[in-house]
Amino acid sequence: MKQKKLLYTGKAKSVFKTDEKGTLIVEFRDDITAFDGGKKDTLKNKGSYNANVSAYFFSYLEKNGVKTHFVRMLDEKRMVVRELSMIPLEVIVRNLAAGSIVRNYPFKEGTPLKPPVIVIDYKDDSRHDPMLNDELIVALKLATPAELKKIKEIALKINTLLVKLVAKQGITLVDFKLEFGRQGKTVYLGDEISMDSMRLWDKKTGESLDKDVYRFNKGDVMATYNRVAARITKKAKPAAAKKKTTKAAVPKKAAKKPGKR
Ligand code: C5P
Repeated sequence: MKQKKLLYTGKAKSVFKTDEKGTLIVEFRDDITAFDGGKKDTLKNKGSYNANVSAYFFSYLEKNGVKTHFVRMLDEKRMVVRELSMIPLEVIVRNLAAGSIVRNYPFKEGTPLKPPVIVIDYKDDSRHDPMLNDELIVALKLATPAELKKIKEIALKINTLLVKLVAKQGITLVDFKLEFGRQGKTVYLGDEISMDSMRLWDKKTGESLDKDVYRFNKGDVMATYNRVAARITKKAKPAAAKKKTTKAAVPKKAAKKPGKR
């Protein structure tokens, strides 16, 4: 596969056309940002940790019946994905109160949210990603009511699957953000699921194992990303490729039981 023209550069990823119709290449760069781009750095190897963890989660979700854009890894930092028409929504699922929900509402940090709370923001940096509601989403023609229902169902299914998966590694999934896109009429999970887009707390120590370490100067970001990537994927290092293409390893149980929730 050949990488062609750059289509889009985000804060931490770049998207390229390829010589194969319907597929794109996503490059996970080493850039990290927080607070609407107010804090920025480049951290060596960060891209490969996030790419590897995302590939692992996408493969696991696919094996469990969730449609994702993931096709395969091209190398440590580059992922081949299905080309989607992205829906500009940030779908956040919260299991415990943390971050903006604690800043904006009278929740105490760490309060369990049962059932999980879904918050959907409008993905628009110039407007600082304002929170939407169902009526606004439909009025803005961002998604149909049927698509919105489907998106929420998929988000909750992903939550159930990921909560279980990371719990096996002694990690609590506090919250995470998803993005979706369409190919034809089908809605697929796009973007990434990584330490940049989730809150993960160590079950024993309560320690942050995600971008909060960077946001709030809680310690060595790359040491944390390295450890948590290894812990989640159960590998010492990201799937470095001597071969040209590498498939992300998938947890055994999930691979054996596709469709299991
Ligand atoms: O900041 P807030 O508490 O709303 O974030 C909720 C979750 O969504 C966090 O895991 C955060 O990392 C993720 N998020 C994201 N991209 C954004 C906003 C939030 O990945 N633009």
